[in-house]
Order: sequence, then C-alpha cells, then structure tokens
Amino acid sequence: MKPLCVMTDVPEHLISGPKTGINYPLTVQYCGNCSMPIEYCEYYPDYEKCKIWLEKNLPTEFSKVKLEDTDNGATDDDKKRQKRGGKGIMKAKKSKDDGPKKVCVSRAPRGKKKSVTVVTGLSTFDIDLKVAAKYFGTKFACGSSVTGDDEIVIQGDVKDDLFAVIPEKWPEIDEIDDLGDQKR
Ligand SMILES: [Zn+2]
Repeated sequence: MKPLCVMTDVPEHLISGPKTGINYPLTVQYCGNCSMPIEYCEYYPDYEKCKIWLEKNLPTEFSKVKLEDTDNGATDDDKKRQKRGGKGIMKAKKSKDDGPKKVCVSRAPRGKKKSVTVVTGLSTFDIDLKVAAKYFGTKFACGSSVTGDDEIVIQGDVKDDLFAVIPEKWPEIDEIDDLGDQKR
C-alpha cells in the first residue's frame, strides 16, 4: 500500500519538537506568564513568576536562563562597580590638582603636657611648604618644620590662632578644617 500522505512516513515522535540537524530560529517560544518571547522575560517586572512558569513548561529554556543568571549575576556587577568607585576616590585624594582645595589643622599630643599643631593641605593652594613653615615659626616664635608631602608640624598649640593667621597671610585660603585632636 502506498501512503496517502508523506507525513505518515515520518514516525510520530519526530514530527513535534525541534529535529536534530535542523536549526530552528523560526520558532519563538512565548512565556505563559508575561506572554512575551522568553528572551524578554528578564525585562518583565514579574520575572520571578516567569521563571517559575519556565521551569514548569520549558525546563530546557529555564536551565539556560539559570546559567545566564549565574554567569553575569547582578551581585558580581555590583561588586565590580564598587571596586571601580573605590579606586576612583583614592586617586582623587592622591592627586593634588583634582583634590579639594582646603587646609586642615589639628592638634596632636607631644609628650605628656605639650601639643603640636599639624597643618595639611597648604600645597593644594600652591603654597611653598618651606616658606610657610618658616612663616609659622617666626609668627609663633616656635619650631616649625615640613614633615611630609603636604604637612607642617608647629611645635606648640597654635591651632586656634591659625584660623586667623592663615587667611591673613594667604587670603586665597577660604576653608580651614578643624580636625580637633589627633593621635600621631
Ligand atoms: Zn515571561
């Protein structure tokens, strides 16, 4: 007997579903939850329910989605972003040109009864630290020296006086931060 239809020659289990060796970009699978093609599910606000639907109805697609989730999950991205942000801030602090222009003064103990005054940030105003240290020494009649990249230590507690002395000598300095008492 000749078959009436070619289709009857094909065993029934091969008719439905993708066939091996044939690419099927033609079939778009739609999600039963959001009714969008499943590749758009992740943009749907109720993605969690989509995933549940996928797990029940299209387990193969669901496992693909799950793999993508673990590959580039949001948590990984967040971590990277935080790291980048952290580095950026560090760099800004180090660079004198980009950093905030301000002078900081603080008091630090020296021995049991005496204190020293620490001035930082003068170089952000392009002030020669050696000249500044000498000026403070003369002004307060005490030792004063450059002790760091952008730091002057004045022997004596002159912190409160600096709020008047610094703007008087360098009018361009309009912001002086009082860091209070600092341990060194
Ligand atoms: Zn969906």
